Amino acid sequence: MEKTHHIIIAGAGPAGAIAALGLARLNYQVTVISKPRTFDSCEGISERVVQALRAQSAHHTLNSIPAPSPRSVHWNGAHSLANTERLIARRVFDESLQKDLLQAGVSILEGQLVSWRELTANIEVEVQTNGEPVSLCGDFFVDARGRSASAKGKERLKGPETLSLLLKWQTSPGQQKSMAASLADGWAWLARLDDGQCYTQMTLSNTHRNLPPKKHLERFVLEQLQCVEGFREFIGNAEITHSVIARSSTAILNCDPVTERSLRIGDAAMAVDPLSGNGIFQSLSTALSAPAVINTVLLKSEHKHIAQKFFRERVNHSFMRFARMGRDFYRLEHQWPESEFWQQRNHWPDTKATHEPIAPEKITVEQKAVIHHNFVEATEVVITPDQPLGIWHLDGVVLAPIVKQLLTKPLQAEESLQQRFSYEFHNEAALLQWCQQQGLAENRL
Ligand code: FAD
Repeated sequence: MEKTHHIIIAGAGPAGAIAALGLARLNYQVTVISKPRTFDSCEGISERVVQALRAQSAHHTLNSIPAPSPRSVHWNGAHSLANTERLIARRVFDESLQKDLLQAGVSILEGQLVSWRELTANIEVEVQTNGEPVSLCGDFFVDARGRSASAKGKERLKGPETLSLLLKWQTSPGQQKSMAASLADGWAWLARLDDGQCYTQMTLSNTHRNLPPKKHLERFVLEQLQCVEGFREFIGNAEITHSVIARSSTAILNCDPVTERSLRIGDAAMAVDPLSGNGIFQSLSTALSAPAVINTVLLKSEHKHIAQKFFRERVNHSFMRFARMGRDFYRLEHQWPESEFWQQRNHWPDTKATHEPIAPEKITVEQKAVIHHNFVEATEVVITPDQPLGIWHLDGVVLAPIVKQLLTKPLQAEESLQQRFSYEFHNEAALLQWCQQQGLAENRL
């Protein structure tokens, strides 16, 4: 089939790459402008990232991800070992994403986006490649430049100014593991890969009272790390191999990530606090919905506004939910009530509960946008206090008609869903449990 539209994506991190794979699958001509990362780092990802990559058939990337390893946490004076995470060396991860792009027929242009312009019928992009300026013309622009995407003229919501100081170490090969620990003025994350590479990341307030000039940063970080319980044991005889890299890790929302012919995705749209270890997952979630939004804007312009609103709402909602979850986690730490770092984060972004209480009288059925067959369209969904953007399906079952009935008469204790709806649900137990949680079904006797 002829590729009729050309989409230009700036940035080949997880967001740019996953959006490119989705668009290529929809038969768009896709060019990704890729400026390689300037430094290596290690990050922890959850199974949800692996599932998202699997759904996109990103096989090279999946093969680069190691098995889960133990993660210990020292928080509020307590020690827990319950968690695992997968530790990825970001350079290897990003290079593998590029291999997946090439395999999917996506063009990669090595270079740096210098500027882009939106015209009525198309977009124009200027790229600096190997010293040569290159101009490109396309139908739609996707900004996936991460935190370095331009903020000029954009309304943004920012969390407390935060800085992460990264040190890279090397020791002999051994078991992969990671650890997070709270400190008087911030928190630390330590990771050790099986080849002996170690990373220590100190996250603190940008306005930390003792933050020294750059040349003394290493000594400062080492002093802070000495306060981490178990640091010496963790790092063993590892030696520092790189000077300190400082990264901004302030949570930032770009309130409007949509224009007529562009979308911001990943960190360029919303960059979350690294405390959650969920930044890549959040980036992938905006990237996964981008192809359907672009497809709708370009091919079903009568639904363009629904698609744009859908994307805007999703980005804003996910960011706020995440910010509140982060706040709740910071609030679990009580050891340093006087510390500016903890005080600021205990109160941001607001005082609203992360999860609103469930009550059947607050449940409604409304028209909202959903993704259906690669387009965004409006359909009836169930709105609950906890899911204000609506739930369309639960385990493959369209919820709205069921909930409408149960709102007029809840399911009785002796009644089954099959009896009420004369339909055999493939997972009735899960559906019943959800209805009970919402107060739409009486508890079983
Ligand atoms: P990026 O990964 O930043 O990719 C953007 C790409 O665009 C880069 O390749 C960059 O080189 C390129 N680029 C930039 N400018 C241009 C240009 N002008 N032209 C062309 N290309 C350009 N997330 C986790 O899931 N787990 C963690 O443990 C974790 N730890 C973190 C620790 C810190 C200190 C920070 C700051 C973030 C952490 N994150 C973590 C978040 C994670 O790094 C990001 O959420 C994720 O990388 C965002 O993906 P992205 O594709 O949107 O942006």
